[in-house]
Amino acid sequence: MAEKKLTFMSKQELDCPVCEAKFRKEELLSGGGRMNAGDLTKELHRIYIPTNKFGAVYPLLYPVTVCPSCYYAAYPSDFSQIGSERKALLNKGIAGRKLAFREIFPDLDFQKSRGLAEGVASYSFAVDCYESAPQLIAPHFKQAQSCLRAAWLCMNLHQEEKTENYDYLAQVFYRKAAFFYNRVVELEQKGEESVENISHLGPDLDNNYGFDGVLYLSGYLEYKYGQRSNPERRARQLKNARATVSRIVGMGKSSKSKPTAILELARDLHKLIKEELDELGIDT
Ligand SMILES: [Zn+2]
Repeated sequence: MAEKKLTFMSKQELDCPVCEAKFRKEELLSGGGRMNAGDLTKELHRIYIPTNKFGAVYPLLYPVTVCPSCYYAAYPSDFSQIGSERKALLNKGIAGRKLAFREIFPDLDFQKSRGLAEGVASYSFAVDCYESAPQLIAPHFKQAQSCLRAAWLCMNLHQEEKTENYDYLAQVFYRKAAFFYNRVVELEQKGEESVENISHLGPDLDNNYGFDGVLYLSGYLEYKYGQRSNPERRARQLKNARATVSRIVGMGKSSKSKPTAILELARDLHKLIKEELDELGIDT
């Protein structure tokens, strides 16, 4: 009996718009017992339980398209669309992308089947490359989501190798994710960048929590990973996070249509933030 495969290489070759290399993208096969969905975490992350046949499966390794030659990276719908000015910038960035993981992941290779290292690097390169992307394709949202997913994959790496400090790397991505999710909310309020045209706001691949998910994560990541060394600044940031979370928990718009999971998580978070503000003893 032929061994069941987990992924396949796309038939169609892709052209890198930055360095013109041709390559194929690895895609995940679904069905056939490959995916064994487990719990949803407080970060709206779906855990997959390893199976005997396929072992651990990480669907998050595959969404970002990465050129194996120059490490230009983007989500598939954005990959080919770059203007000449951006092409020059992304070309300039090649050396930096090549160096970025030389010490942490010396065997990085996007020609072969992706592992956790390639997964983390794919999101990190995407964060870097979206820096020069136009507002129209909501780069801050894509940077936010990519940082969060990179953090999750770092924690998977940490579970596999506990002595390599991948949990530290996860913290770095979590803090960046907190920063970017905050920016997304801010930019949306100012009308400077909209996520309206993005059909799936994740943050993970299965459920779409829409803009409520963005609001929740902005608050949650600040609460969980924000700085705590300066209590007054912490209080300001918590108040800001509480206001953001309040937008989900039934201000104005009816909350009937919203998924219970996000409402419950948002209510819990709102309570936790209130408790910490009370403890800080700064007028709330
Ligand atoms: Zn390239």
